[in-house]
This record gives sequence, structure tokens and C-alpha cells, in this order.
Amino acid sequence: MSEKINVAEIFGTNVFNDAVMRERLPKKVYAEVRRTIESGAEMSQATADVVANAMKDWAVEKGATHYTHWFQPLTGITAEKHDSFVTAPVNGKTLLEFSGKELIKGEPDASSFPSGGLRATFEARGYTAWDCTSPAFLKEDATGKILCIPTAFCSYTGEALDKKTPLLRSMEALSDQAVRILRLFGNSAATRVTPSVGPEQEYFLVDREKYLQRKDLIYAGRTLFGAPAPKGQELEDHYFGTIRERIGAFMKDLNVELWKLGIPAKTQHNEVAPAQHELAPIYEEANIATDHNQLVMETMKKVAGRHGMHCLLNEKPFAGVNGSGKHNNWSLLSDDGVNMLDPGKTPHENIQFLLVLACIIKAVDIHADLLRESAADVGNDHRLGANEAPPAIISIFLGAQLEDVVKQLVETGEATSSINGGKLNTGVHSLPVLAKDATDRNRTSPFAFTGNKFEFRMVGSSDSIASPNTTLNAIVAEAFCEAADILEQADDFDRAVHDLIKKYLTEHQRIIFNGNGYSDEWVEEAERRGLPNIRTMVDAIPALTTDKAVALYEKFGIFTRAELQSRAEVLYETYAKAINIEALTMIDMAGKQIIPAVISYTTELASSMTAVTEACPEADVSVQKELLLEVSALLSETKVALSALQELQAEGAAIPGAEGMAHFYKDKIVPAMAALRAPVDKLEMLVDKEYWPMPSYGDLIFEV
Ligand code: ADP
Ligand code: MG
Repeated sequence: MSEKINVAEIFGTNVFNDAVMRERLPKKVYAEVRRTIESGAEMSQATADVVANAMKDWAVEKGATHYTHWFQPLTGITAEKHDSFVTAPVNGKTLLEFSGKELIKGEPDASSFPSGGLRATFEARGYTAWDCTSPAFLKEDATGKILCIPTAFCSYTGEALDKKTPLLRSMEALSDQAVRILRLFGNSAATRVTPSVGPEQEYFLVDREKYLQRKDLIYAGRTLFGAPAPKGQELEDHYFGTIRERIGAFMKDLNVELWKLGIPAKTQHNEVAPAQHELAPIYEEANIATDHNQLVMETMKKVAGRHGMHCLLNEKPFAGVNGSGKHNNWSLLSDDGVNMLDPGKTPHENIQFLLVLACIIKAVDIHADLLRESAADVGNDHRLGANEAPPAIISIFLGAQLEDVVKQLVETGEATSSINGGKLNTGVHSLPVLAKDATDRNRTSPFAFTGNKFEFRMVGSSDSIASPNTTLNAIVAEAFCEAADILEQADDFDRAVHDLIKKYLTEHQRIIFNGNGYSDEWVEEAERRGLPNIRTMVDAIPALTTDKAVALYEKFGIFTRAELQSRAEVLYETYAKAINIEALTMIDMAGKQIIPAVISYTTELASSMTAVTEACPEADVSVQKELLLEVSALLSETKVALSALQELQAEGAAIPGAEGMAHFYKDKIVPAMAALRAPVDKLEMLVDKEYWPMPSYGDLIFEV
């Protein structure tokens, strides 16, 4: 228990980070690597060879046997294929080698990764290319120690087949445009602006033995049946509650594993739902934060197994209690240390901030559909719009202070005062001084300004954060570009920037909403404002291929039209496949476990009635009879719903084309699944627990 953990000592021990490179690489080589990382300069073969060799020596000293190009295909999880460092034996002995060529480029057989028609199976070639901006690391598990090299994954013809490539492209685009904005305000020092991202990860932990008794958790990652437990989250006694020993032991191990990987795990706490928890790391550059979040999810699963538990990352593992999300905190940091989302201390900084803010408001309003799509995944359909999560409508929360400033600007063209801002500035074009913490908290907004960053709360817990950040970067790059195009030409900059801020805020203020995002009134109000309310993943996908989206992404070289179309195709496929698995799982559970169990129970009831009547003809068996009637009625309802689902599933699986199939699954299969679940959940409340073939909600979330 009292075993000492020296965080400083273990932090980053499994990372080939800057300090290790500085120590192990010749000065000139190190300098060249830094140039490549910082400005994307091409690395010579000779340098790559030296780096590869140093990386291999470092890894082998730590006990590594293999290396892998670690990448993020469109499955949303990571992929790896291990190669050992072993070379062909000479005189029975092998040398361990790793060349610059092997470091820089890999060629995995790509035929089985989703490509959405970009690549036919016979031209399966796919390439992985080293992303030197994210450090290589060692993964430790039962396989041994594996040197993982973060890579981008592209087709033979250069189309992105992964999540990292567009993210990196979007970061470059955003940096170029953000630097233009900084220049307008006299900053000549900054050369690069990078999005900082801190994703707060929610998750559930359940007992592994119980997990193994639930086919829905095994195949679908969420419960497809389940009556509510007598207690839910109504007492609000789990949120920030004392962390129980078993969970604490898990968190401790998890932190150690993450720290070794150089992941700055920072906060941990119990979340709202029973058995739900959260981990937040300190923010990092978007690309690294994305890689790290994949590792966080993977490590959570691994460490939970060691503690006899299973980690559920699905967005809605249990009906009736909160689901899990991933709050994506996002800000913009220049290489000379300016957070462009920090209101700053002087009016001058304020004007820059207000322009940035106005650009973001405009971007989010124009591309609300794209942002919504970037947070869509199959599990999130059950979370968005449900009572605990942000609705499926994109809106921006600014807080009282900023909302007031926006209002003044829109109404009078001047903003001369600032609530809680302390100082008051008057003057023709001046703007008020803004205080960083003058905003209150709003937990119901999908996109909230929180002091010096935006928090995109719609993202699902199991999803990669690559797409949300790619989208954010892209839409903001476009808005910055349009603003810079105008302002760079202005004769009177002060006047022009003032007018532009006012124009953007006036045109796009409809996206700002500071009220309760969970209320029905907001849904109606949003409709009046003309804001899209896109309820499902399937309905969100078309946003990717509109002319507006294609123009945006092609302008900044982030996606080609073909890449966007392929992604839409992959998403339709993913949806249909996931729902198909859920439907088949329900069919399996209902047919093989639930119906037989209920039949056994009715038989027991019937024989009990006969036995009682035989022993004592005057005895009242009306309770058994009533129960028998009720259970039998629900049983036949279950059987009817099961047959209906089976028929629809067979019909759906035969539909050609992913888009049509996805629509069929959404419109026909999902309701049929709900129709099967309803009587089964009622039966669970009636049937003797001894007969029920799987652990209940109570067993799963209260007895971890
Ligand atoms: P909460 O939102 O739960 O109150 P915090 O605001 O402290 O918690 O931080 C949540 C996450 O936001 C953390 O991952 C943190 O590192 C990240 N974060 C804090 N500041 C920034 C920033 N300027 N840019 C991006 N992420 C940030
Ligand atoms: Mg937060």
C-alpha cells in the first residue's frame, strides 16, 4: 500500500523524447531532427539512419524486441504490426538492426482497413509515414516491449486512409492563417500557432466476471437489455465521491502506465453515474493529445483487466444513467507564448481576442453541421439529446460577461463597459478590458467558452478526437483567412477591425446561447433561429460532402472531395455494421438466454400452482396465476418482437450500398430493437432472479 511512486523519475521513461534525442544523437543530427519537427524540413537518409539506430539502441537497452509503425486507420482505434529487430543470421548469430528507411516508411498490407472505396483490394498498397512531431514510445504488455513509431497512413496515390494525416494538414492550415492574424496586430515574432488540446475522458468500470456474463457488453460494449436498478444517480452521491479501494488501485496503476508513456495524467474523479469515472490529462499539442488519448483509452482497458475489471468506453453503456463523453478543450498557442483565446490584459489584446472570438463564432455558425458530424459516432446517438448530455444542436456558450460585450457591440457598435471586468474604457473604438474568470459555468452547452479555451463537449467517449480537432482547426482557419484577406487591405485598420467584429457578431449571434441547453424550449428556440438539430449519426454524415464542406477542405488542402466521399462511405458502413452486431446480439440473447429462462420460470410457476392446489385445494393460488398470466403475455410479446427483428435484420443485411443500409438500420432496426427490449426489461422485474440469465444493472454498476 505504501509503495513509493516517484512520478518525476518514471515520467516519460518509455518515450524517445527530446531529452533522449539530445543525449543520444550527434549535435548536427539532433539539430536536423528539430528542424524537421518544427518546420517540416525534409530529413536526409543519412540522418534518418542515425536516428533509427539510436532509437533501436535505446529501445533494445530497455528490453524491446520489436518495432511497429503505429497508426490510426478509419476504424477509430489504432493499428500495429510488429517486426522484430532480428536480421538474417550469419554463422548462426543475428544482429539487431533498424534502418532509417524502416523508420520513415512502412508498407503494411492495407486491404483490410476501411477505405470507403478509395482503394480496391487488388491495389491494397498502403504506406505508413513517420510523424516525427509525435515521439516514439515503448509499449509494454504481455507481448513484451514494442517500439511504437507514430505514423500517418496513406494510399499508394497519397490519399489519407487515417485520422492523423488530415489532423496534421489542418494544423498546418490553421497555423498559417493564425499567424496572419497575429501579424495584423503587430506580432512579428510568432512563426507558428498550434492548437492545444486537453481531452477529459469519461469511462465506466465493471467487474470482469459479470461483464463476461453479458453478451451485449462483450459484443456491443453496451447493455442492450436491462431494467433500471432501484437506485440510479438521483442522490448525486457518486460525483466527486470518495474513490473506493478497488477503483483507486486501478487509477494508481493507470497513472503509472500513462506517466511512463509521457502522458501528463492530471485529474481523476468519480463521475455522475454509479461506476463512472473521469481522467483528464494536461493539455498538449493537438496531434500529440490525439495520440495520447488513443493510448489513454487502450491503457484503461489493459489496466482494468489486471484488476479483474472491464473498462467500458461506449457512450451509453447503461440506459437511465449518464453516458460518457469526452470534453475536448481547445485553444490556440503561438510559439512566442500567446494564447489567442486569452482575453488578455489590455484593450489592444482585447481587440485581437474579440476578432478571434468573432471568427470562431462565425466558423461554428457556418459549419455547425460539420462540427456535429465530427462528434457523431454510433454510441453517441444514445447520448446526445438525452437528458444528461448536450443536445444534438450546436450552440456556443460565452458566459455573462462576453455575452454582454457582444450585445453592446451588436446593438450600439461600441462596447464600453465590461461586467466584472474592473476597468472601464471609453472612447470611440475602444473595447472593454475583459477579466478571465468573469464567466460562470454552464454544463449544458455543447461548445462553451471557459476562460481561455473552448470546450467542445459533444464528443463521444469512445471516439478518436482527431476528427473534432481537424474540423475545428479547418473551420477556424477559414474564418481567420477571410478576416485576414479583408484586414490586410484596410487603410484604417482600427476602424476596419472594429467593423468586421461587429459584422461577424451581428450576422452570427444566433449561434450564441447561454441558457439551459437541456430544455425543450431551447429545441424550439433553436429551430426558430434556424440552427440545425441533427439527431443521428446517419443524418450527420451528409455534412461531409456538401459543396460548402468540399470547398473548405479543398481550399486548405485538408481533404480532397474523394477523401471526403470515402469517409462518408466508411461512416455509413460503420453505422450499419455496428447496429447489425447489436441486433444480432439481441436476437442471440433473447432467443438463447432470455426466452428459455422465462419459459423455465413459467413452468416453475405452473408446477407450483399444481403442487399447491394438490396439497391444499382451498389454498389461494391467485398470485401465481396472475404472475403466470402477466409473464406469459410479456413472453409472447417478446417472441413477436424477436421475430420482427429477425426478419428486418435479414432484410437489412441484404440491402446493397452502405448509405441505404445505414438508413434502413436507423429507421427500421433501431426501433425494432427498442420494441424487443421493452417487454424483456419488464420481464426482468417479474422473473425470479435465480432464473434471470445475466447480471442486472444493480449487480453491474453498484457492485464493482
Ligand atoms: P474542468 O473543465 O473540468 O473544470 P479544467 O478547465 O481545469 O477542468 O481543465 C480541463 C481540461 O482542459 C484539462 O485537460 C486541461 O489541461 C485542459 N486545458 C486547460 N487549459 C487549456 C487551454 N488553454 N487549452 C486547452 N486545454 C486546456
Ligand atoms: Mg471541463
